[in-house]
Amino acid sequence: MRRPFIAGNWKMNLTRSQARDLAEDLAGRLEDLGDRDLAIFPTFVSLAEAADAASGRRLMVGAQDLWPEANGAFTGELSAEILASAGASIVLVGHSERRHVIGEDDALVARKLHRALGAGLDAILCVGETLEEREAGRTLEVVGRQVRTALDGLDAGPLARVVIAYEPVWAIGTGRTATPDMAQEVHAAIRGLVREIAGDEIADGMRIQYGGSVKPDNVDALMAMPDVDGALVGGASLEADGFERIARFEAKA
Ligand code: PEP
Repeated sequence: MRRPFIAGNWKMNLTRSQARDLAEDLAGRLEDLGDRDLAIFPTFVSLAEAADAASGRRLMVGAQDLWPEANGAFTGELSAEILASAGASIVLVGHSERRHVIGEDDALVARKLHRALGAGLDAILCVGETLEEREAGRTLEVVGRQVRTALDGLDAGPLARVVIAYEPVWAIGTGRTATPDMAQEVHAAIRGLVREIAGDEIADGMRIQYGGSVKPDNVDALMAMPDVDGALVGGASLEADGFERIARFEAKA
């Protein structure tokens, strides 16, 4: 069985003291949930504070992005090593806001993923289609290309430390959620593709999160789907009661 994984992406929200308070609050509230993985992704400047607040608890702390070099003349960027030194154990790569607002392409996302894994961080690879792509019937083609490009050249060891988050761009921050069946269809296709690329063991073990307006009132239905192994939560992760409820989703029958 795959261990469920619920993660909160705080995006560009919360000051350092607010981040510390929320991390401390969540670390305490979620400590009894021993059967699932839980993580928060604060801003870079709050990473060390949040990691300190969650230290010794179940709650993992991760970074929202990285630059795919170890060090050097990359003004404004942060390497996996620097993030790890601030307490990150995991990093998001290819979030839709990085792809569509900042302009990252598949090749850069792939470099970031390989670099993160090579430096010892776990990673959540975010993929997803725009509304235009979905309406043109291109969802599986787009998501397939994103997954293939990012995973290409990774061995079994690093692959086992990858989580994929399927996040339809039209569902992120919009209040529109993919139905559980829509999510299941894409998750099953992603798992099939991973099977082709990396074989049964990796495919059966790979966690695939759904992301896109996950809330307390839709998480149970999404998590009931056989290939939905977790959630990547944006807006609803900024509020302790809501995120706790999502983390306490009703397990699959
Ligand atoms: C996200 O940031 O990855 C996300 C899915 O955001 P939201 O839950 O707000 O749609």
